[in-house]
Amino acid sequence: MRQYTDTYQHKGLRKQLVDILKERGITNQEVLNAINNIPRHYFLDSAFDKIAYEDRAFPIGEGQTISQPYTVAYQTQLLDIKRNEKVLEIGTGSIYQTTVLAELGAKVYTIERQRKLYDQHKNYFFKNKYLNIKFFYGDGFEGLPTYGPFDKVLITAAAPFIPPKLIEQLRPCGMMVLPVDEGEKQRMLRITKLLDGSLQEESFHNFSFVPMLTGKN
Ligand code: SAH
Repeated sequence: MRQYTDTYQHKGLRKQLVDILKERGITNQEVLNAINNIPRHYFLDSAFDKIAYEDRAFPIGEGQTISQPYTVAYQTQLLDIKRNEKVLEIGTGSIYQTTVLAELGAKVYTIERQRKLYDQHKNYFFKNKYLNIKFFYGDGFEGLPTYGPFDKVLITAAAPFIPPKLIEQLRPCGMMVLPVDEGEKQRMLRITKLLDGSLQEESFHNFSFVPMLTGKN
């Protein structure tokens, strides 16, 4: 059985990570607090214990990665999460980004298309702490029509285009943050659905994500 301990050393490394994120331009204090509060090493194989607080992505199996902390902070900051908002996340992966959203008080609906990664939620360390997370196995391109509309939508894989069904499931004035393919890199976009249903698009920095794929696996 894996032992989960959050030592002073882990806490110290986490504080250093938060300082790096601040230097890189993350200003939302609640996002920084969430990252400071959540032991990222619990979401990684114990072999990564000593390096879990480096600002980089790591493999989590099935050819997927846990996003870099800077990317998690960046996307979460763009989403401007308020307590009790309904948030749809595409790409549960390690559950780390999901946990950041839950720590901010969102009601999180998260979808994963890889069965093995989805199944990990059964052993999720914080399952009794974050009762505000619901896990789904499915294709994120379809969203969750019966649970919508959502205040916010977050895609954590490189989308080939803006998924139309996810726009439909966004409530008026709702926002979606997603990296959209531009070859090697993806452009981070924030789409706001205006009251008349039209879309406002803002474009931010380039990132590198694993691809958003159709169907289940
Ligand atoms: N938020 C995760 C990121 C994992 S990487 C974390 O920080 O750990 C992206 C994840 O998106 C992978 O787990 C991948 O399997 C998943 N994914 C890719 N396409 C998807 C789709 N269409 N629907 C749901 N999940 C998808």
